[in-house]
Amino acid sequence: MSNIAVAEKQWFGHPRGLATCFFTEMWERFSYYGMRALLILYMVAPVDKGGLAFSTEKGASIYGWYTMGVYAMSVPGGWVADKLLGLYRSVLLGGIIIAAGHFMMAYPSLPTFYAGLISIVIGTGLLKPNVSGIVGTLYSKEDVRRDAGFSIFYMGINLGAFIAPLICGPLGQRINWHYGFGAAGVGMTLGVIQYVLGKKHIAPGLARHEKDEVDERAAERAEGRSSSFTREEWRRISVIAILFFFSMLFWGAFEQAGSSLNLFADRLTRLSFLQWNFPSTLFQSVQPAFVIIFSPIFAWLWLRMGRHEPSSPTKFGFGLFFVGLSFLLLVPGAALAQSQGIKVSPMWLIGVYLLQTFGELCLSPVGLSMVTKLAPPRIVGLMLGVFFLSISFGNKLGGYCAGFFDRLPLPKLFGAVAGTTLTAAFILFLLVKPIRKLMGGVH
Ligand code: GLN
Repeated sequence: MSNIAVAEKQWFGHPRGLATCFFTEMWERFSYYGMRALLILYMVAPVDKGGLAFSTEKGASIYGWYTMGVYAMSVPGGWVADKLLGLYRSVLLGGIIIAAGHFMMAYPSLPTFYAGLISIVIGTGLLKPNVSGIVGTLYSKEDVRRDAGFSIFYMGINLGAFIAPLICGPLGQRINWHYGFGAAGVGMTLGVIQYVLGKKHIAPGLARHEKDEVDERAAERAEGRSSSFTREEWRRISVIAILFFFSMLFWGAFEQAGSSLNLFADRLTRLSFLQWNFPSTLFQSVQPAFVIIFSPIFAWLWLRMGRHEPSSPTKFGFGLFFVGLSFLLLVPGAALAQSQGIKVSPMWLIGVYLLQTFGELCLSPVGLSMVTKLAPPRIVGLMLGVFFLSISFGNKLGGYCAGFFDRLPLPKLFGAVAGTTLTAAFILFLLVKPIRKLMGGVH
């Protein structure tokens, strides 16, 4: 019997530590999306319905700042792991701070509401980038299972995002907002417990990571570091800068799922199916469900296309195209609802989320992996942080758009989002050739 086979426990043919990361991130996303499903609805709900009675504009603005903060904090969160706490303790501390944040929101008062939001921002910054970092440590550099491992991990993200609105949504909307927030906190607590219990499974990867870091520093000293970039490196960095802009526009449209589309579901969509009346937050589960269904199909499709598989910038273009199309689809839906004052069929939003999922599956897996390939090795961490900032700015942009929900006719608002993203897609398609030249051999 081989000792190695006994030593390394497996999970679906992957290191057992992947399960620990999978469930940690699943519960973290459960708490994030469970709370996010309720956030804007709670802020704009009248006081007699237990809400904060904020104007839609104010609610959308807070939503924008909050979601922007969550992603922006990934940059200092990565730094803290690198320089101060290491990956393991950063994730642990992050999880505890997130859970505390949700429990603060479970207490009905304005100061605990804001303190809770700030805690979740800080905690997520510590947890989210670093738990992905731990997934990376599970595989040696030569291990061909790495990409598949990250795809499984992405399923964990979406499983959490799918389940959360089904639990936190009805609790919050039907019984009490604060029970919904509390349920998010319970989820994160379960995640932290299983993370601590699973420590032994991620330990070998973490040890390897620490050794690599020491070796890398030693090599840097020995070689002497040159601080300037070559021409080729500058070209590749410029590609990251160009894609940063397009990525921001994509997420600016996409992340309105929790704001303007959530309001559209709540106010303008028929919330019944056959005899069943369901809460509007149920729609928040639709998009992650589509990701779970369609990611294997997209993976198969790219493989099937072989050398005809589109290049990374082309996939980016398709991402923008699909998200643009999704908002275009909603223009007649919104016109129907507003001009006739009726609630429209749930099929409108389901169609919107289907198209957005196609966009996400073209763009999201490509973005981060492309940065790791394009950035000069000594600044990969920094460039990944920069790329998280594009998601962060996108979230702010999304909140800004949602702020017009009550002030503009909705076909106009959704039409403007569609027009911007479709134009960006068109420009990007035109730029594919020059961008590929700048990329010099990277696909
Ligand atoms: N839904 C994915 C997640 O929560 C991707 C969203 C994003 O990166 N903006 O991680």
